[in-house]
Amino acid sequence: MKGISILGSTGSIGVSTLEVIRQNPERFKVKSLSAGSNIKVLKEQIQEFRPKFVSVLKQAHLKELKKLGLNFKVGYGEEGASEAATIAGVDMVVSAIVGAAGLLPTLSAIRAKKDLALANKESLVIAGSLVTKEVRKNKVKLLPIDSEHSAIFQVLRGSRKKDLKKLILTASGGPFLRRPLKTFESITPKEALNHPTWKMGQRITIDSATLMNKGFEVIEACWLFNVKVEDVDVLIHPGSTVHSMAEFIDGSIIAELGTTDMKGPIAYALGFPERLPSAKAPFNLAGKNLKFMKVNSRRYPCLGLAMDALKAGGTMPAVLNAADEVAVGAFLKGKLSFTGIAKTIEETLSLHKKKEVLDVQDVLEADTWARLEALKIIKKKKF
Ligand code: NAD
Ligand code: MG
Repeated sequence: MKGISILGSTGSIGVSTLEVIRQNPERFKVKSLSAGSNIKVLKEQIQEFRPKFVSVLKQAHLKELKKLGLNFKVGYGEEGASEAATIAGVDMVVSAIVGAAGLLPTLSAIRAKKDLALANKESLVIAGSLVTKEVRKNKVKLLPIDSEHSAIFQVLRGSRKKDLKKLILTASGGPFLRRPLKTFESITPKEALNHPTWKMGQRITIDSATLMNKGFEVIEACWLFNVKVEDVDVLIHPGSTVHSMAEFIDGSIIAELGTTDMKGPIAYALGFPERLPSAKAPFNLAGKNLKFMKVNSRRYPCLGLAMDALKAGGTMPAVLNAADEVAVGAFLKGKLSFTGIAKTIEETLSLHKKKEVLDVQDVLEADTWARLEALKIIKKKKF
């Protein structure tokens, strides 16, 4: 029986993880849950899965949980999330908090020698060197949940690193693949939240429409698979049938295919090295769209911003992520145009004086600086 901790249990990945656990009660036991402010869903999860420890974002939320009358320990804030990740009996932590807020609990999990099933790609984007160093030092398993990286992880098993030529990440292109560029200015949050192939949380859905998500995934791939940004290609693949690929020196390309259901990569990470009987809907390859296209960089400026931030290194990717979090938040509140997202991030990056990342404090300082700077840019109502 594997003891599981879920950070971000009420989110899209958290809920899908609990679905995989529900289908495999003989293999997994939920030991702890950590969530933000969705107390209604969290209470239902506690009643069903009976964790030993529960953490919420704010202390005020704990009152509601006490009303359940059940026996479990509680915590709150970042410390609470870290405690949820590190308690005895947890073998694997599913890191699925959204944004930079996921970094410290993720590092705590690794330092407590818990295996990590990582959905929170932001920890690798903003602090890839620190996270991978801790993974090596503490000899824990790092299993990607992001579907592209799960695909590549599966494809690379059994092949030699020196035979690899490049990684090819696929991107659906989001809802605006064919929308005339000159109308991008007027894109509304409702339109941008309407992803054609995947159902996800709000922030990653907007990041998928701008392709910032793919930019983050290029950075994530570089850290996970120890490759350079020049060795990662991105192809638009509107069907999202091929989840990603690896090309080898003999010209062969190996891909992983399946439904667009995150329960697939989650079950793979939870069960690793075993494969679990599928929790996903049946998949029929007949008639599926297998088209691939190059990325039009004018349509998706965020992808280039991410690649440049990775090449620049140091604190630049942390600034990229923080500015994006703020810009996406402002766009969702109607305070910034869709095209303003990339412009705000670009301007924030251009104002940043890069520092090397020696410890987590360097990352957190750059993150705080970038949030304030991005807010100032948005307040000036330039975009
Ligand atoms: P979501 O918004 O649906 O859920 C986020 C979860 O984190 C919620 O439980 C929320 O309560 C919690 N949370 C938010 N802020 C918090 C804080 N400060 N402290 C503690 N908990 C907090 O997001 P999601 O779509 O499930 O994505 C989660 C992570 O997984 C993101 O990093 C995302 O990039 C990644 N990811 C998601 C998908 C997907 O299909 N949804 C796919 C690949 C990767
Ligand atoms: Mg992905």
